[in-house]
Amino acid sequence: MQSVSVKQVPTYSPQLLDEAIAAHFDALDVASDLTPESRVLIKPNLLAGRAPDLAVTTHPEVLLAVVRWLSARGITKITLADSPGGVYTPASLRKTYTACGLDVLDDFLTLNEDITASNKDGFSIITPVLEADYIINCCKLKTHGLTVMTAGVKNLFGCVPGLKKPEIHCMKPTIGSFCNLLVDLAEVVRPQVTLLDAIDCMEGNGPGGGSVRHMGYTLASRSPYALDEQATLLMGLQMQMIPILRIAKERKLLSGTTQLLGDTLRPANPPFTLPDAVLGTESIFTPKGIFHIVFGRKKAFPRVLTRRCVGCGLCAESCPKHIIKIVNKKAVISKKNCISCFCCQEMCPAHAIEAK
Ligand code: SF4
Ligand code: SF4
Repeated sequence: MQSVSVKQVPTYSPQLLDEAIAAHFDALDVASDLTPESRVLIKPNLLAGRAPDLAVTTHPEVLLAVVRWLSARGITKITLADSPGGVYTPASLRKTYTACGLDVLDDFLTLNEDITASNKDGFSIITPVLEADYIINCCKLKTHGLTVMTAGVKNLFGCVPGLKKPEIHCMKPTIGSFCNLLVDLAEVVRPQVTLLDAIDCMEGNGPGGGSVRHMGYTLASRSPYALDEQATLLMGLQMQMIPILRIAKERKLLSGTTQLLGDTLRPANPPFTLPDAVLGTESIFTPKGIFHIVFGRKKAFPRVLTRRCVGCGLCAESCPKHIIKIVNKKAVISKKNCISCFCCQEMCPAHAIEAK
């Protein structure tokens, strides 16, 4: 049986977070896995360089609490690594760390600037992930225009370096094929623990352009699938709406019963507002998700809200099909060849891309 540890944590107070991390890691017996020699990787969600209070990225106070817990056990070989959206260079990583408020971690761990990667079981994976003995997957709870929600499993897509991610979107253009690949990737990376920052979450046009929704929880599990299942319930959503969970269940990676440890989990009421790209099809979701599996999301396309566009080009950089051009300082999308992955919307800092 899979277990998920639940703690109510109303704010990002260091003291409350220390208590929550201690309770989670006690419940999951994490200490018995580790020695002072362990090389631990912390894998946050650093989608883009955004301030912590926007709820796009894992909050630095959560990461600091994990580091304090590890340091108290004599563990010093700690690395934080992620491949954010867009290019993957030492300069872009450093910029992202600063924007996400992670410079405070510099004294306590290594903020990765190694941009090499190697192949493992068919995936290109960033080196710090491959070199770690122990992976703590520190994800953020958000809605997502393609996968409906992102928490533990989707966070591991950041183990794939830079612009290899858009290549994968091209190879797996339907929701079913892409989510199957995310599950394959989770099985390759196999984090020992997944910890969810669900204190300030994101609803609406997540994972980059939604609104902050305060829930006041952290969750932890040995299983990213069980954690995602409980995170879905916390959002007030149904499990069958989430393609990753349907696939995990079909592949028997998600057992029928999950043991909840710790506090009571109170689902969001009203449920999280879904992204534009999902809302249009919500009413025809079926328990088996036949609609998505058969049709993909071919009816939703991105549209640029020209008055908001600042011409930064981040959408063009992340588009796997290279169909976005900047013309007169505004993004222009050619709908032909669009695979509706919404990477462009995900990366837009100006909320200038909507789904139609
Ligand atoms: S235009 Fe946007 S949704 Fe279409 S392929 Fe490019 S990134 Fe994906
Ligand atoms: S649509 Fe958004 S990401 Fe693209 S250029 Fe305009 S502001 Fe930048």
